[in-house]
Amino acid sequence: MIDQVRYYFEALPLHPQPEKLESLTSYLTRLAEANGIQTSSAFAHICFPEYNIEAIHSLNDFPLYSLMNLQAAACCSEAVVQATTFYHLGRKFGRVYDSRACYHFLRNSIAPFFRYCPLCIKERGYYSLLWRFLFVKGCSDHACNLLDTCGHCGEKILIFTSPLQFGLCPSCGRNLGLCRIQPLIEAEEDTLSYSQDLLFLLSPQPWESMTSTLAQHVGEQFALLRQSKELTVQEMAERAGLPPRKIKGVEFDIIDTYTTPFQSYLQCAKYLGVSLHNIFDAVLERRRFHGLPQTDQIQRSENESITKMQKAIKILIECKMPITKNAVCRIAQLSNAELLQSPSLGIQLQQLVLAGRAEQRQQVILEKNAIQDKVSEMIKQLEHSGKPVTYQSISTLISVASVSSSENWQMIRFINQYISQYLYDQHNIVQEEDRLVVRTEIAINQLKELGAVLTRRAIAAIVGRYQEDLQQYPFIEVLWKDFPET
Ligand SMILES: [Zn+2]
Ligand SMILES: [Zn+2]
Repeated sequence: MIDQVRYYFEALPLHPQPEKLESLTSYLTRLAEANGIQTSSAFAHICFPEYNIEAIHSLNDFPLYSLMNLQAAACCSEAVVQATTFYHLGRKFGRVYDSRACYHFLRNSIAPFFRYCPLCIKERGYYSLLWRFLFVKGCSDHACNLLDTCGHCGEKILIFTSPLQFGLCPSCGRNLGLCRIQPLIEAEEDTLSYSQDLLFLLSPQPWESMTSTLAQHVGEQFALLRQSKELTVQEMAERAGLPPRKIKGVEFDIIDTYTTPFQSYLQCAKYLGVSLHNIFDAVLERRRFHGLPQTDQIQRSENESITKMQKAIKILIECKMPITKNAVCRIAQLSNAELLQSPSLGIQLQQLVLAGRAEQRQQVILEKNAIQDKVSEMIKQLEHSGKPVTYQSISTLISVASVSSSENWQMIRFINQYISQYLYDQHNIVQEEDRLVVRTEIAINQLKELGAVLTRRAIAAIVGRYQEDLQQYPFIEVLWKDFPET
């Protein structure tokens, strides 16, 4: 496939490869410069023809979802390009199922402008992904603060902007590698541990494909740690200065867990005195010893979820209840999180719901036909034996057990329409009002017969008209004047 792509798209003459933990915007700047391309719009034309120019200007190291042209231009694999973004961090927490998920997860943790270590720029010649994280205050290699403006002119620096020149301030054009450094005094340890943790989180790991269960087990691990300190969520919330909701989100204990930001995970880990690397190690350890699902079991668990959904739809069809996604998930005991994690499961659910509704409609038609056959059979019998055809004689012959569900009302309405049609024909009734009067009388008597509460709403439901429609007719007003509205 890649070879075909290379054949169709143009490769740039020079293609340096990304360095370990180099940011995408750093790599793109170097790639452009190596090939003598100065402006971001010219560069975008070659590497991102499918993106609009605003999207190119706001390139900010989040995962990209269309990479074919860039891969071809840079002779670089998709995996190598994604490793220059926050992709692997997002993936470990199950936040790459759509293009916004990773952005929402990280946006409060990522600096909107460029931050840098002048010594790294001078010595290494690339920008690090770690510099993008606001909680990383300094460079752990050089023990200096990260700068967030140009050390020469004091301007803020955009993440990806023309002219595309590595290591130069786009405002004053001077060398950022020569800016004066400030030694890191505060939180040196913090910087070191955050950098270590990010190094792990941003690097690919073979077990990351367990996306549908990993985030959940990470949440469980946080809950276990809290419990081992004999703390309730409330107590931890007070001591850590965090809203309880955030802790519950991290522990996978609330329905919108997937709105919990990365920051909350960091804050919880910091309070509990562990790194996120420790948390993932513990999850993998538990998986080895206690049989938490392995990668190959995910497909199996997805199949189990589908079986559960199919059973739920069967129940809804049998109980004549409306088939909605919520109803199916409730009966199948599927969480929102499971669906969000697996887009294919969501598609399956949609298809099963549509098929279930079609089956339900088909069943109603069959039932209606069966009742119609029965009613016409009864009418024939009554006529044959010289007995009058009335709603009572018919509806007692056809058992209509209960009027509690709306589905049953539909059936009663259908029987009545059939009987009333017979009565209209008998009495040559053609006026709409007369027809409705007959049907209202049938409904009233039917409700009495069933021992149901006589209300205008129930009568209107059986007639199949709105209450307001029926009360326009004076004869109907007379018929139901003694009954309450609901
Ligand atoms: Zn440095
Ligand atoms: Zn400057």
